[in-house]
Amino acid sequence: MLSKDLKNSILTKRNEINARVLFIEDSKTVATMMTKQMEAMKMSVAHFFSAAEALKAFQTSSIEYDIIITDLLVDGRLSGMGLVREIRKIIPDRSKLPILVISGFDDVTRRIELLNMGANDYIVKPIVKEELAARLSNMVTTKQLFDQVKMQQEQLFQLAMTDQLTGLYNRHSLVQLLPKYFSHSVRHSSPLSLLVLDIDHFKHINDNYGHSKGDDVLRKFGQLITHNFRSEDLIARYGGEEFVVLMANSTQSDAIEKAELLRSHLERNRIEGLKVTISIGVACADSHSNFEHMFNQADTALYHAKESGRNQTITYPANAAMLQ
Ligand code: GH3
Ligand code: MG
Ligand code: MG
Repeated sequence: MLSKDLKNSILTKRNEINARVLFIEDSKTVATMMTKQMEAMKMSVAHFFSAAEALKAFQTSSIEYDIIITDLLVDGRLSGMGLVREIRKIIPDRSKLPILVISGFDDVTRRIELLNMGANDYIVKPIVKEELAARLSNMVTTKQLFDQVKMQQEQLFQLAMTDQLTGLYNRHSLVQLLPKYFSHSVRHSSPLSLLVLDIDHFKHINDNYGHSKGDDVLRKFGQLITHNFRSEDLIARYGGEEFVVLMANSTQSDAIEKAELLRSHLERNRIEGLKVTISIGVACADSHSNFEHMFNQADTALYHAKESGRNQTITYPANAAMLQ
């Protein structure tokens, strides 16, 4: 028997577990008793009498369960053991979706087999309420902590990959993503173009209207570029007021057309109430291109666009003679 103190401590500490449960039990009495207990603990329970039905619901429903609790011996063509095997084919990671198996007999060989097969824990009938509460709480807490760590990892990754001002990729992520574009271009013999875009006299905007107005212009400009190019193009803020676009499946003339569309749009419209123009350098990949090579070419073209009076698009090497 559990001591009164232990019983109280377990029940008060663990009496609320916010979790969605997929529960398989073919005995109506046991199912009702356990469902009642879990619901009293604030768990939301989807109960099935057969493992096959539960598996089907699991595969087709959009609900993300926090835990599966299954009886070992259940009526129907799929056993509790079979269900564990099937679930682990779909979600191999035990921390992502824990499984608790309930059995009528305490057989050590079977217990080991079940744990090896992917069950996280095992509990023997008759169910002791406090034991069930303690085991559920441990498993669900671990699962939810794991989810939280995963989510934070993803948020950190996004944060590290993104430029905070514009929401575009930053230089670091550009470098990470480049190889995919180059290998795709080589594999499919598809053209690849690079644009380097730089806002003209941006320093004047900061000087005349303040740094925060400058930030607004950069943010809006980021949105404009995103609208102007396709989702498969790689758009990044390379530095201060310099942006790059790596255009997949794009020939030199596609790239010039897109660059001119954006440049002339800016010429005709204001950003944040200000007249803003841009200069653009364009380069295209050849069979032995790498990003550095292409970037140097586009940057050279950009330099000449600036030298020739700004607010224009210059291509490398189409007018290479002029760039010497
Ligand atoms: P050019 O036409 O030759 O490109 O002239 P420019 O003034 O645009 O270029 P320059 O490189 O001389 O100046 C860029 C300015 O951009 C200087 C820098 O303070 C500003 N800048 C860089 N990053 C940011 C930012 O995040 N926000 C704001 N507001 N300004 C920035
Ligand atoms: Mg500039
Ligand atoms: Mg600059």
